[in-house]
Amino acid sequence: MSWGVDNLPYGVFSRHGEAPRVGVRYGDRVLDLAAALHDEVFAAPTLNPFMARGRSAWHDTRTLIRNKLTGDLAITEPHLVPLDQVKLHLPFEVADYVDFYCSMEHAGNLGRIFRPGSEPLLPNWRHLPVGYHGRAGTVVVSGTPIRRPDGQLGAGSYGPTAKLDIEAELGFVVGVPGTGDFEDHVFGVTLVNDWTARDIQAWEYVPLGPFLGKSFATSISPWVTPLEALPRVPGREQDPPPLDYLRRKGDWGLDLTMEIRLNGEVISRPPYRDMYWTPDQMLAHLTSGGAPLRTGDLFASGTVSGGQVDERGSLIEITWNGTDPLKLAGGDTRTFLQDGDTVTISAKAGDISLGEVTGTVG
Ligand code: CA
Repeated sequence: MSWGVDNLPYGVFSRHGEAPRVGVRYGDRVLDLAAALHDEVFAAPTLNPFMARGRSAWHDTRTLIRNKLTGDLAITEPHLVPLDQVKLHLPFEVADYVDFYCSMEHAGNLGRIFRPGSEPLLPNWRHLPVGYHGRAGTVVVSGTPIRRPDGQLGAGSYGPTAKLDIEAELGFVVGVPGTGDFEDHVFGVTLVNDWTARDIQAWEYVPLGPFLGKSFATSISPWVTPLEALPRVPGREQDPPPLDYLRRKGDWGLDLTMEIRLNGEVISRPPYRDMYWTPDQMLAHLTSGGAPLRTGDLFASGTVSGGQVDERGSLIEITWNGTDPLKLAGGDTRTFLQDGDTVTISAKAGDISLGEVTGTVG
């Protein structure tokens, strides 16, 4: 079955009139963990207190849940709540948010679009995972309406963005700070849509980088899939070899295929396994200067784009900055998003589903 015992992502849900609490998705239901496991850590309205317990607790809890679901279901059944009876909330309190730029195909496409005629990748790109500190306070749960932002669009020009775009990304959720390996720190993975106003971005980003063109909203899936559930593959070969502090100690390539739907129609299927920088390298770089981690930190991969036209993770790439409109079923075309458009990003690795992150432009 889909959403079976090998999947079991965590989320925060509430029944009508009740306070939000932690659950695990199983099939089309959510297991009420505070009730099923008799553990008050799951009565919290966020995953943070549970994530702060650390890696061995994450593993033991997952084993316990699997045992409950494969054992005497008569005992567990009363704690399984149908998904259509619950509201899903932001699954964790976001501490700091960092966004990287780890796809060589995405960075290359944007280089060709923004700096035609020059080398697409800037000189630093193959030497470090480029990133910036984003805005944790505007990370919202899937389903939250997205307001088209106003901003400076050029010299003397202020108004609603005409180039509202998406970025399909994977987000990594930090459970515990301290020292250790990647899997000692990172609890799990969530889907991210890094909504972007391209005209605001293009005008403001020189020389300090992304700011208001990114910070109005970042949507994440209501589900956080434990790292343990995800199939790992060797990371992509890197040339030149990275410096010592960025050297890989394990296989943290993730073999996931993402899918982007615009108003229900599939417009792209970005492959995550082709990413150049792996999440262990992102975390090593993020902390290499001495920045401590906090429970609830979110760092995202940057737009996931593959080498084919139908594998690109943003509209600016798919429509080549609006010069090659996307043709939709029924004769509709798009360059950037129109009001009323709904974008849904999902991801799968075989039977393991990361769920979806959706948002409608209002
Ligand atoms: Ca991004």
